[in-house]
Amino acid sequence: MPEEPISTVPATSERREPTASEVDGARSHPVVLEARGLVKHYRQRQARQRGHRRAAAVVHAAEDVDLELRAGRVAALVGESGSGKSTVARLLAHLVRPTSGEIILDGRPAVRMGSREYRRMVQMVFQDPFSSLNPVHSVAYHLERPLKIHHRATKSEMPDAVARLLARVQLGPASQYVGKLPHELSGGQRQRVAIARALAAGPRVLLADEPISMLDVSIRLGILNLLAELRDEEGLAILYVTHDIASARYFADTMTVMYAGRMVETGPSRAVADESAHPYTQLLLRAAPDPDRAQPVHLGATGGPPSLVHPPAGCRFHPRCPAAMDRCRREVPPFFQVAPGHAAACWLHAAEGVAVSVSPTATGRPDPSPA
Ligand code: SF4
Repeated sequence: MPEEPISTVPATSERREPTASEVDGARSHPVVLEARGLVKHYRQRQARQRGHRRAAAVVHAAEDVDLELRAGRVAALVGESGSGKSTVARLLAHLVRPTSGEIILDGRPAVRMGSREYRRMVQMVFQDPFSSLNPVHSVAYHLERPLKIHHRATKSEMPDAVARLLARVQLGPASQYVGKLPHELSGGQRQRVAIARALAAGPRVLLADEPISMLDVSIRLGILNLLAELRDEEGLAILYVTHDIASARYFADTMTVMYAGRMVETGPSRAVADESAHPYTQLLLRAAPDPDRAQPVHLGATGGPPSLVHPPAGCRFHPRCPAAMDRCRREVPPFFQVAPGHAAACWLHAAEGVAVSVSPTATGRPDPSPA
């Protein structure tokens, strides 16, 4: 599974903060799916040591995650391996249960909805199109099944419904694809079929977990452009999970950066990428390949991500942070607003920033209520 920061789109040096109208425009898109204070702890299996049962270790995979996905907008969730971004996607897809926190779909708590109803509206596209499609079934089978399960087409309507789905993901003519098995398609075509299968249920939310990282660089942009069309023309709310901050800047409207299971920065994607306020985001940006950069960069931070079984006290980034202060080792930083709609969880902004709750964040202005 490639986790190195292979960039699809070069980082830009153009610096620009969002205008107030852009921020307000973002907020005019209605919220479809919301996560409030999501926590996921995995309990490792108990082990015996010299005949005694050892206490089970707890993996703090995601903590205090607040996100909003809005109709017709893409929210990116960015971080390195182990940052908790895929855990959040799986929580939102109802593939794992949260330890605590709440998921709200269309204003209704998800726990009060049946799993079929929830899955009809929230669909996931996985990283690996090779394993997400069944190798012994045709393209037609993969698309007809969700159409049947969710009562989206009768038997006589099925061929047309399948052809329409293929056309929506720019695979045509349908006759060229319906009978094919997954191994007879290219990686990009397989991912398009996987997206068509997700669309078959008629969802309002797509959760795309690293949807381009297993594909050749040459076809990544085509998949991102397809997702952008689905956002713009069909008003889908899309979560784009990625380790590639440059592609998030290009594709997403808003961006939330995670580190060691916690959100560390959130805001409009251009503001987060071009005016990053958290040292970890700055590190991610410096690590992204940039064809305009002649010399390799000095990252200014050492070591790797911390253990999620025993995460560092205070700011989890402090063991690697070149700007760490005493306070960082003791106290968890709240979010401080650094610009309209843009907030960072870092004590460096305690002097000039206003501590905010990021509950209504991902796309909009942080709530100015004290954290
Ligand atoms: Fe670095 Fe402290 Fe900010 Fe954490 S809170 S990122 S350790 S300066």
